[in-house]
Amino acid sequence: MSPVPCRLCAAPLNTTFLDLGMSPLCENFLRADQLDAGETFYPLHVRVCDECLLVQLPAYVGGEDIFSDYAYFSSYSQSWVEHARVYAGRMIAELGLGADSLVTEVASNDGYLLRHFVDAGVPVLGVEPAANVGAVARAAGVRTETRFLGLETGTALAERYGRADLVVANNVYAHIPDLIGFTAGLAALVKPTGLVTLEFQHLMRMIERNQYDTIYHEHYHYLTLRTAQRALATAGLVVVHVEELASHGGSLRVFARPSGVPSAAVKEVLNTEAAAGLHTAAGHRGFAESVFQVKRELVDFLHQARAEGKRVVGYGAPGKGNTLLNHCAIRTDLLEYTTDRNPHKHGRFLPGTHIPIHHPDRIAADRPDYVLVLPWNLRKEISAQLAYVGDWGGRLVFPIPRLEVVTP
Ligand SMILES: [Zn+2]
Repeated sequence: MSPVPCRLCAAPLNTTFLDLGMSPLCENFLRADQLDAGETFYPLHVRVCDECLLVQLPAYVGGEDIFSDYAYFSSYSQSWVEHARVYAGRMIAELGLGADSLVTEVASNDGYLLRHFVDAGVPVLGVEPAANVGAVARAAGVRTETRFLGLETGTALAERYGRADLVVANNVYAHIPDLIGFTAGLAALVKPTGLVTLEFQHLMRMIERNQYDTIYHEHYHYLTLRTAQRALATAGLVVVHVEELASHGGSLRVFARPSGVPSAAVKEVLNTEAAAGLHTAAGHRGFAESVFQVKRELVDFLHQARAEGKRVVGYGAPGKGNTLLNHCAIRTDLLEYTTDRNPHKHGRFLPGTHIPIHHPDRIAADRPDYVLVLPWNLRKEISAQLAYVGDWGGRLVFPIPRLEVVTP
């Protein structure tokens, strides 16, 4: 029996969903002087709870270790900023938000979303655990508290600033190990007549599209609408509506209220999940085999390229690339180097595999036979950026959902 209890219902976790072995933290990019030192690896053993069906990774690493000085600034991503702008405009119109309202966002990052409400004259409160990121938001005129959300924090903030008409929690619900405490915090922040919206990657799409590289230590649970509904219910929040989004390979936007009735869309998504087998523990089997196919195809391809004397380099150094490369044991023997547009990563090395990261200009200088693209979620954008690889007959390789080698 596993010593780890389910974080939602406390039942013992006896069923493996996917075991990717040992992996280092995916955002720990190494400096050259760290290459001769030891490196800590943690298990990536994902379980599914037989009782409540929550798919989860034990909290091998605490959230405070990861998020207190976070390096990700949402405003760097243009598509994400646009997503936030459209959302804010819609919520202001639909909820009739104005100078007497309050919008509270949890994990508000650098204020990329709340600034649209500020511009419209709607009072806001950001709750952001990373001090450096929160400071950027405050400088931009977005009121922000540096806090981790739990019941106590939620209650204290509601007493100080009032309860919110709208509470937003985007791409954070899966990244908090204390799921129950965080949910209680959300409920404490919202008015009895208010609305909570959450966005998170949909487990059903992750399975369907073989996106197993989105499994990493900072991603503690992998949610269906069914399990999110159960988690929200622990704090008395009712899922009243849901929308499917294209972000992160397939996400859900869930609308919850302290009281209400589920819409037809809720029933529809639940039916689709049930048909996909995700409302039984047994229905979660089979993903491990699909993941193995992805690994086999990629590793076979790289071995073959190597045997033929072809040069293979990478494009992108996203966190998810490290799950894939470590799981497939791909090192500089199979992938010479990778490249990234983020200057902070240049001269660094990927955790675990120690593959060096260079400026993308290196690709044009070296004219490799193949470029392995690691951020599959930006496929269209990157294919356009790398069109020049075709000038010398080079090809692009996409490992997920299935191996594809294409002429750009
Ligand atoms: Zn459970």
